[in-house]
Amino acid sequence: MAAFACHIRRNDIVLVCAGREAEGKKTGKVLQVMPGKALAVVEGLNYIHKCLRKSQDRPKGGIIKKEGPIAVANLMLYCPHCKDGVRVARERGADGKAGRKCKVCGHSFDG
Ligand SMILES: [Zn+2]
Repeated sequence: MAAFACHIRRNDIVLVCAGREAEGKKTGKVLQVMPGKALAVVEGLNYIHKCLRKSQDRPKGGIIKKEGPIAVANLMLYCPHCKDGVRVARERGADGKAGRKCKVCGHSFDG
C-alpha cells in the first residue's frame, strides 16, 4: 500500500475552509486521520448524533454527540503566525526529514 500523502496529521490545528462547518472560520485539533478515506476527525467540529441501543447499562438507550469525520480536502493547516488557514510547502531539511512550512510566512509546522 502506498504511503498516505496528506497535508494534515494528528494533533495539527486545522481550519475548515469548505463544507457545512466552513462558516465563521472554525479551527480545531485533529484527533484522527483516516488513511485511505481522506477523512479526518477534528475536535469540536462536525458533531454528529449517534443513537445508542438500549442495553443493560442504558435501559432507555440514548443519543450521544460525537465528532464526525470531515474530508481532508475541506481542511487547511492553521498557521498561528498568519492566524489563518494556509497552504503548506513541503521541504526536505538537512536531516533528510520532510517538513511542512507555511507558504506565506515560512512558519515550520514540524518543529
Ligand atoms: Zn504563516
